[in-house]
Amino acid sequence: MSGVSRVYRQGHTTSHALRGIDLTLPPGSFTAVMGPSGSGKTTLLQCAAGLDKPTTGTVHLGETELTALRERELTKVRRRHLGFVFQHTNLLPSLTVEQNVFLLMRLAGQHPESSGVADILARVGMKGQGECRPSQLSGDQQQRVAIARAIATRPEVLFADEPTGALDTKMAMEVLRLMRTAVDHLGTTVVLATCDPVVSSHADQVLFLSEGVFVDALHAPTPAEVTERMHRTWHLRTSEQLPRQ
Ligand code: ADP
Ligand code: MG
Repeated sequence: MSGVSRVYRQGHTTSHALRGIDLTLPPGSFTAVMGPSGSGKTTLLQCAAGLDKPTTGTVHLGETELTALRERELTKVRRRHLGFVFQHTNLLPSLTVEQNVFLLMRLAGQHPESSGVADILARVGMKGQGECRPSQLSGDQQQRVAIARAIATRPEVLFADEPTGALDTKMAMEVLRLMRTAVDHLGTTVVLATCDPVVSSHADQVLFLSEGVFVDALHAPTPAEVTERMHRTWHLRTSEQLPRQ
């Protein structure tokens, strides 16, 4: 991301969600983005993933400039190379759990096998529930399916927007393990927005957002360090930014 700004205009109010973001993430890196509500985490992920267009600035995925692509081409790139887990799950209600996973994998140009899908569902604690419809599942079960589905496509970059918010601690840790495995064994790049210091300490680096700009960074984070930096960041005004590390 280079010089990325995103301004929302609604009637007479203008909101600067992102202000001149410069960010380069190497392949196979695991990054957590933290910041208070309204700091721009979701907007950052959506702009990085080609789901939203920056008002100014450019976004590249490898050699491809996402911000220069037309919607059709962008959709193709997203399906083939990117994965998403949203704050609110978006499973297709008319399809079973298994069909939801299959569909996304096919859209990504893959030829999934039933056993592979069952295996990934088992890893998120959804063994034997492939025939269920999303409406038969609890919110946290739906989120686990959404996570399994995103990881199953083996995206080059996986964007996850507060994916563990609705999960209990044990399941959140399992999901983080899945993401870590994707990073370590498949070279997946993971970008995770979260408000939870324990969650973000699983990442290689934590970036702290405040009012649409990065104000701090932490490498090889521990929960205690993240918590301490978080409190510092949360009390910062953008006029008193810390230097980037
Ligand atoms: P976070 O995910 O950290 O809570 P967001 O990216 O959702 O932050 O929001 C950043 C800012 O942009 C907030 O001030 C929010 O009100 C504003 N914003 C986000 N989405 C929209 C939208 N669709 N229309 C208008 N303002 C928006
Ligand atoms: Mg958000």
